[in-house]
Amino acid sequence: MTSVPNITLNNGIEIPQLGFGVWQVRPNETKAATLTAFEVGYRHIDTAQMYGNEQGVGEAVRESGLDRGEVFITSKLNNGFHQPDDALKAFDTSLETLGFDYLDLFLIHWPLPGIDVDFVDTWKALEDIYASGRAKAIGVSNFQPSHLRRVVQEGTVVPAVNQIEVHPFLTQDEARAANAEYGVATEAWSPLAQGLVVESPVIAAIAKTHDKSPAQVALRWQIQRGDIVFPKSVTAERIRENFEIFDFELSEADMGVITALDKGQRTGPNPDEFNWIP
Ligand code: NDP
Repeated sequence: MTSVPNITLNNGIEIPQLGFGVWQVRPNETKAATLTAFEVGYRHIDTAQMYGNEQGVGEAVRESGLDRGEVFITSKLNNGFHQPDDALKAFDTSLETLGFDYLDLFLIHWPLPGIDVDFVDTWKALEDIYASGRAKAIGVSNFQPSHLRRVVQEGTVVPAVNQIEVHPFLTQDEARAANAEYGVATEAWSPLAQGLVVESPVIAAIAKTHDKSPAQVALRWQIQRGDIVFPKSVTAERIRENFEIFDFELSEADMGVITALDKGQRTGPNPDEFNWIP
């Protein structure tokens, strides 16, 4: 069976570099999709309070027959819960909904720089959760370098990861460099640009030379850059396809050609401007 490399986070916790993302997986389809992912071999699931499908992830873990310790589960704090007391309660609710007594990784989903709660105060609540041992690692998501700097300088725990949008059309060189400078692992969300990468003739041409699909090439590019990825699919063949990326290697030339596709194209909101509360 394909073996997925682990990345060691800055607190010594290991995370499988390839996982399965469940944003936009309907709650009633989440258990089945996650079970398919486990059958294929994924052992890392990326969910969030905002996705409304934590319950299905927890059920899949229990039905899979895997031990809790064999799977790495991430969830994220929803935007309405940035007040520290709310963050603590929302974390408890996540554990309850998932049916777990700990999370492997818990993130602040968005910095929300324009709301009246400072994300550094929210971060301190996550530090308390981490100190309690109920999250093995804590991190942030969608933090721009300026946001990350504040958390590093004003907090006591350096985030283990920063989960940001990264794909061939948005290579995020500056944000990835800032993460690396602080010892924060980059998690690349929407690694397939929500499906857009498969339409790139450049990626398709490289894929042909490796007898692989464009999606596999885009994911492999991210793996070779050292980022952590978790493509989403509700299609069993694609869940499998996205896992089969460890039996080939992109050349330096291939890597350069894909990186040059960068056009600063976001599929999601700009974190500096996004202050949406559900
Ligand atoms: P992806 O970049 O993973 O793309 C998913 C889309 O691509 C779906 O439409 C899927 O279709 C399609 N697809 C999947 N595999 C293939 C394939 N092999 N060939 C062709 N098409 C394919 O998008 P996401 O936005 O879901 O990102 C992945 C994960 O990142 C999320 O699930 C979530 O965990 C995380 N994320 C985090 C965010 C954050 O703010 N922290 C924001 C956005 C995402 P289908 O399902 O129909 O097969």
